[in-house]
Amino acid sequence: MTFRRLAEYLKQLDETTLRNKMTEILADLFKEAKDKEIGVVCQLLQGRVAPLYEAVEFGIADKMIIRSIALGLELATDKVTVLFKKTGDLGLTAERIKNKEDRIPPSPRLRRASKNKKELSVKEVYEVLYKLATSGGEGSQEVKIKLLAQLIKDLDPLSCRYVVRIPINRLRLGFSDMTVLDALSWHLTGNKSLRGRIEKAYNVRPDLRFISNTLKEEGIKGLVQVKPRVGTPILMARAERMSSGEDIILKIGKGAIEMKYDGFRVQGHLKRIKNHESRIKNKEVKLFSRNLENVTNMYPDIVLGIQKQLKVKEAIIEGEAVAFNPNTGEYLPFQETVQRKRKYNIEAKAKEIPLKLFVFELLYADGKSYLGESYTERKKKLKNIVGAGETILFAEEEVTDKASRVEEIFQDAITRGLEGVMAKKLDGEYRAGSRDFNWIKYKRSYAGKLSDTIDCVVMGYDYGQGKRAGFGIGDFLIGVHDKKAEKYSTVAKIGTGLTDDEWKIIKARSDKLKVKSKPVNYEVDKIMDCDIWIEPDIVVEIRADEITRSPVHTAGRIMQTSKSGKAFEVKEAGYALRFPRLERFRNDKKPSDATTVGEVIKMYKMQGKK
Ligand code: ATP
Repeated sequence: MTFRRLAEYLKQLDETTLRNKMTEILADLFKEAKDKEIGVVCQLLQGRVAPLYEAVEFGIADKMIIRSIALGLELATDKVTVLFKKTGDLGLTAERIKNKEDRIPPSPRLRRASKNKKELSVKEVYEVLYKLATSGGEGSQEVKIKLLAQLIKDLDPLSCRYVVRIPINRLRLGFSDMTVLDALSWHLTGNKSLRGRIEKAYNVRPDLRFISNTLKEEGIKGLVQVKPRVGTPILMARAERMSSGEDIILKIGKGAIEMKYDGFRVQGHLKRIKNHESRIKNKEVKLFSRNLENVTNMYPDIVLGIQKQLKVKEAIIEGEAVAFNPNTGEYLPFQETVQRKRKYNIEAKAKEIPLKLFVFELLYADGKSYLGESYTERKKKLKNIVGAGETILFAEEEVTDKASRVEEIFQDAITRGLEGVMAKKLDGEYRAGSRDFNWIKYKRSYAGKLSDTIDCVVMGYDYGQGKRAGFGIGDFLIGVHDKKAEKYSTVAKIGTGLTDDEWKIIKARSDKLKVKSKPVNYEVDKIMDCDIWIEPDIVVEIRADEITRSPVHTAGRIMQTSKSGKAFEVKEAGYALRFPRLERFRNDKKPSDATTVGEVIKMYKMQGKK
């Protein structure tokens, strides 16, 4: 497939906001792509040359792109800059200049040369982009500029539009991996019937390149028994909520009640590689966060703990990392633990605030997947393979079928300053990427009726008035994730309760994400419109007193046409947060990991029970 053909599909995708239409366009694209080619296409659709969990970034700024366009099209950078100011889009800038160039009749020599020129394939362009992303060190900026300039020179105008947008992360096609999974099903069957099975495999190997190549080569049977792969993070299992020991025991019967530690979740991957030359065993560890970010370099103490304490060649484990004070031996609150997430000064901070990893899961060990095994089996094996040591400790647990005992353990956890408990179904398997009752969280309730916080996406903000005018932000709009529609719908506008620093952070981060108009996947009532709209990126954890029904917030709201058929009116009010307050930034979550509309409705029904 030529890159030009891919660009034509990208243009079609750009021109629609309808999800079903996008799915059909993608399905046609996948049909046309050949074996192996489809993997590269899927990768490029994500605007990347490697999966999200591999830290391969383009590292190219707008200014460098301007220089590439200028170099590739033999123009002065000033001229490119002027046009960029007009279009506001570097992709369109490159396309327009290239178009103009095409209209100038070429000399006979150039005409002959361009007649003989072969169009670049998707794979060829991908390889250049990969080289661009992975070139580092001294002089790499110049290398990147030249590589992109050559592509711009060789490609047609429409292809230039997209080849420029990819390295600066401006592809913005408006769909997530979930739509790609729908389309993968569609291209084989003409409907979404295979989506469930494809998604199950994706949850274990969230690598669209692997998933699409396997489907193309082997069909759905290739994805039936997808095993975890050390080095590829598994989408993490999540917990449902309940608010009493009685409800928990009624739901799962006898269960393991574990302490719920308040740190950050870590998935640790170990693969020991035998190095024949030196006969020394290299031990390779990778760590992933809740949103699959590779955080290995940030936590050398955990890396060492895994290398030392795991008694197997290969394993994937999960636990909660919590900081502690080496002088007093006390565990530290989340606000302290989170200081360990940093890019600089890592070793010194690791000495000052060391981490302990409370392990609670085994997902894979020495060639065997434990995902389908019961909690009891996974725990048994986990205890077998983790040796004694200082860094990796087991999460405390007790098996019981008595509601009163669950309450006692819960009270004990609260007294010790923990968040609550996690109840785990003894025969429950590990459900990668899903939230269900195999795990139940039972958390301390606060002043209000709501026992849990809600993770929201910041959608936009209004300019400040009065006291906060100096910050340039007066309030911000937050929303939750409507999973089915792949949209964000609103639950509150927050205008108070933040520290000056927090206002500054929200403003600065938002300004980097500004977009010209409201994103198409935002469901917002006119009354809640914002002065500035931003792309979904910032996730904030919000505590509220209560969830109430509201006609102006769109989470869970149902609309209908009025009897006269002229107006569009509220049939069922939406759900909103009462007295929302910012608890913390959730940098470990992607916007699509925000609380869902369905969860908000469940929490509305549960509130006030305790
Ligand atoms: P979720 O992960 O359910 O989306 P969240 O990240 O907002 O929610 P919580 O709702 O507080 O976090 O609860 C789940 C989290 O609790 C897990 O993701 C994990 O980080 C943490 N945790 C602490 N102790 C345990 C434990 N013993 N078992 C499982 N998870 C635990």
